[in-house]
Amino acid sequence: MGIDRNEWGVAKGCVREYGHFIDGTEVPSSGERIERHSPATGELVASWPTGTIADVDRAVKTAVEAFEDGRWSGLTASQRSEVLSRVAVQLKNDWKRLALIETLETGKAIAQSADEIPWSGDMWDFAAGQARALHGDAYSSFGDSKLALALREPVGPVGIITPWNYPMVVLAQKLPYALAAGCTVVVKPSEFTSGTTLELARILREAGLPDGVFNVVTGYGNPVGQRLAEHPDIRLVSFTGSTATGRKIVEASAFNMKKVVLELGGKNPNIIFADANLDAAVDGAIKAFVYNSGAECCSGSRVIVQKNIADKFISRLCEKLDSIAIGDPLDLATKMGSINNQPQYEKILKFIEAGKNEATLVRGGRALPDRGCFYIEPTVFKNVPLDASIAKEEIFGPVIAVMPFETIDEAIRIANDTEYGLASSVWTSDLATATRMARKVNAGVVWVNTFLDLPSEIPVGGVRQSGYGRENGRYAAEEYTVIKTVVLQDPTAAARYLD
Ligand code: NDP
Repeated sequence: MGIDRNEWGVAKGCVREYGHFIDGTEVPSSGERIERHSPATGELVASWPTGTIADVDRAVKTAVEAFEDGRWSGLTASQRSEVLSRVAVQLKNDWKRLALIETLETGKAIAQSADEIPWSGDMWDFAAGQARALHGDAYSSFGDSKLALALREPVGPVGIITPWNYPMVVLAQKLPYALAAGCTVVVKPSEFTSGTTLELARILREAGLPDGVFNVVTGYGNPVGQRLAEHPDIRLVSFTGSTATGRKIVEASAFNMKKVVLELGGKNPNIIFADANLDAAVDGAIKAFVYNSGAECCSGSRVIVQKNIADKFISRLCEKLDSIAIGDPLDLATKMGSINNQPQYEKILKFIEAGKNEATLVRGGRALPDRGCFYIEPTVFKNVPLDASIAKEEIFGPVIAVMPFETIDEAIRIANDTEYGLASSVWTSDLATATRMARKVNAGVVWVNTFLDLPSEIPVGGVRQSGYGRENGRYAAEEYTVIKTVVLQDPTAAARYLD
């Protein structure tokens, strides 16, 4: 049974039409438009403009003016905090409509979107506190006549480029922290999922954010994202997406030496020891590749299991997978909706075909056209060689490669046999094993006996080719600042150069 769409705020057949959002107003499209069809049903659900370089330049000019006249950075931290708190409240109040829009555009299960909007609200709430907590340092150790300060100042106008897998959550990991620091912002959302970002623009305006502080330009990665990354007046770009595009952003940033924060791909190890609570580990392993149809940068796509429990683990996993409800994303009982878009769907199926030649297919491996446009079965491979494409490359779909290990040293070696380093999970009941793994696995996050556990207080981010910089927690707001050093000298007590 699907949800009542009228009650959730977007009636069936309603096609939402948006413009860019620049200087506090919706700017109508001057040219072509991108139409978004639900990836689950094919229904046309929304459209937004195909942005141009001129659109980006206009939005950046607005963000620069808004930064320089201090209409936002010049407020007190407590005034900025109040605006962010009002946004948090509104996200929590308006969660039904926003969750429905998120599901219509992404194809993800509505129960999941219904979690993600309040979760995003929680990040806005936390960032509101960070606006007031942000401060620099004072140095009083140079005698009575000298004092030095390290001031934290907003870095300037910021560009944010977001992907299609978590449109609202990823934006919430960046935008409120940039605003907390006093920056102004231009966002380019994914061409596939721009709706909630544009809805948020309206919420920000109603919450009292001054015009020009938050701007959105929709369109394709090239030219819109590329221009934002290159723009000489943008001082920091925060990007979440593929490692290949991350590399282009770093190259583009070189022109004006802008700061870059990157949250990129992962090929994350999910390591299960024989002494783990097996039910919990199986449940965690399923969540780690079925949640969001595996389109999760932290997805546990390499399952590394101790050999003496491997067969038992795989059969328990497959048994549980049979009970996963896959289908209509608007049904609250659905656990796994559709793949987000056609290129991604085709990419996953290609990996599955490659996997059939590289390893043993245990379960799944097929498209599910009877469920809707882009559905794929949860797919499990075993006997996967370490150099197989399905063991090395980010698939970003409901596919896992199961690999056995015998000793803890071997588990560490396999876990670290990757160019990525975003997240990892370890399942064990032994404290010594947990401690050793937490120290030795090369990843930005190590979860022990849990997965995708991300309260707003804790920092997330990668090492190696998974990127750099941190989101969430107190470090997130700091990313959007620069340190200015001030040295104050009492002129009557200064040592003279010429004396
Ligand atoms: P991309 O990295 O290409 O897209 C992410 C964002 O970057 C989108 O807004 C995209 O725009 C934009 N973009 C694309 N090209 C440029 C550019 N040259 N300069 C600036 N911005 C640009 O990911 P894809 O959508 O192509 O997905 C491909 C793969 O990336 C997935 O299969 C997955 O492996 C990985 N991925 C990882 C994510 C993560 O969370 N770490 C998130 C999404 C994807 P637009 O889409 O509008 O063209």
